[in-house]
Amino acid sequence: SPVSGDSIRRRFLDFYASRGHKILPSSSLAPEDPTVLLTIAGMLQFKPIFLGKVPRQVPRATTAQKCIRTNDVENVGRTARHHTFFEMLGNFSFGDYFKLEAIKWPWELSTVEFKLPVERLWISVYEEDDEAFGIWHNVVGVPKDRIKRMGEEDNFWSSGVTGPCGPCSEIYYDFTPEEGHSDADLGDDTRFIEFYNLVFMQYNRKEDGSLEPLKQKNIDTGLGLERMARILQKVSNNFETDLIYPIIEKASELANVSYHVADEDTKMKLKIIGDHIRAIVYLISDGVIPSNIGRGYVVRRLIRRAVRTGRLLGIKGDGRGNLEEVFLSAIAEKVIELSTHIDSDVKAGASRILEELRREELRFVHTLEKGEKLLEEMLADALLNAKEKGTVPCLSGEDTFLLYDTYGFPVEITKEVAEERGVGVDMAGLDIEMECQRRQSQAARNAVKLAVGNDAELTENVPDTEFLGYDTLSARAKVEA
Ligand code: ATP
Ligand code: MG
Ligand code: MG
Ligand code: MG
Repeated sequence: SPVSGDSIRRRFLDFYASRGHKILPSSSLAPEDPTVLLTIAGMLQFKPIFLGKVPRQVPRATTAQKCIRTNDVENVGRTARHHTFFEMLGNFSFGDYFKLEAIKWPWELSTVEFKLPVERLWISVYEEDDEAFGIWHNVVGVPKDRIKRMGEEDNFWSSGVTGPCGPCSEIYYDFTPEEGHSDADLGDDTRFIEFYNLVFMQYNRKEDGSLEPLKQKNIDTGLGLERMARILQKVSNNFETDLIYPIIEKASELANVSYHVADEDTKMKLKIIGDHIRAIVYLISDGVIPSNIGRGYVVRRLIRRAVRTGRLLGIKGDGRGNLEEVFLSAIAEKVIELSTHIDSDVKAGASRILEELRREELRFVHTLEKGEKLLEEMLADALLNAKEKGTVPCLSGEDTFLLYDTYGFPVEITKEVAEERGVGVDMAGLDIEMECQRRQSQAARNAVKLAVGNDAELTENVPDTEFLGYDTLSARAKVEA
């Protein structure tokens, strides 16, 4: 179809190729750069060129870059537009063209190539960037009331605390133009979606926070493929595009539910599985093996989260009668099937990827089984205790936390099982334990300076605190010992 995800990628690359850009391959999700955990944007492979550390090979390039953003993990399924794994389409200039073309071409791509209605497009510019405002209004012809000046948070892009950066300008699509122009807020994500970010990369942020002009002015852009697919395919979120939906269908089949008639919570869980399995497959394909540190820990956490989410959906296995209750590989096969135009390495490495995934999932399932036994013991204790003291039976915050942290037990499941036995859960006590862990991992994060990415949830305990959970009774007890 003319608007399949694969065709959008192809047409984007061809559009820029015919404007003098060399089509270059995506770089790995695990960058060589030791200061960087994962590839979060298309610009990463060009960072040394932007900084003037290595000479450019070509003046202009275009890529479809595989990206991982762990800082968006909590957004997955909650918003209609965030993934952990996604593809960023980009056009780049290395000291060649600057603002004028970097605004005109994305506009032409959006309105002529992809035929988005002009009146549905809104623009943001950095509040001090009169030049960009002027080009959008005077050259392109966007009315002033559809160009918003925004602050540093949204419109000054940087890949990390230090490094290349600059003011940016974003293009938004308006789903409900009938709402009119007064009070329109680009941050309202039921009305608008940001799909293209144009970065005018002209500074290097130094250690002391000051900005130093780069020798040459560069252009770095990013368009979210899944977001453009969502717009062009006219579906209500990125997950329903042809890039992801077949994965969700497979998961629905195993969970014995039907996505389109499911309740919101079930849909969210299916989206989480669809998202995480993509990330897991591409990470393993790029050589990231589940472990307790760094990148490996990111994959491990994603795998556990996908397994737990599947269990909450009632998935009991891969539907092929295997005795062990593992199911991720069956869904991963769908990801591999869809990978052809994203990354040919995935199909080539399929058996290794599936094997790695299966091994890690089994390991986790065994841990969960141990947790189940422990929970039974805890419940028996709680009941006995309550009987002796004549109080209401309750599972302590400490026990609930131990199950969650060490045995990967979702609090939801603990609560459900406990309630079935007439035992309550001390949620206030659990909050204290959670807060205590948050503070510890914050301290761990502060000790590390990752130049790229704000990998809040997934990299906690990394890299100076080793994850001790699975073979010890209490991770925290050991850390404290
Ligand atoms: P948002 O404000 O929606 O979180 P962003 O401003 O963080 O997006 P950029 O850093 O500007 O995103 O990245 C460039 C483009 O990449 C975005 O305009 C969007 O199309 C896409 N993109 C960014 N993050 C994600 C994500 N988590 N999932 C899917 N696409 C994304
Ligand atoms: Mg973001
Ligand atoms: Mg944004
Ligand atoms: Mg942006």
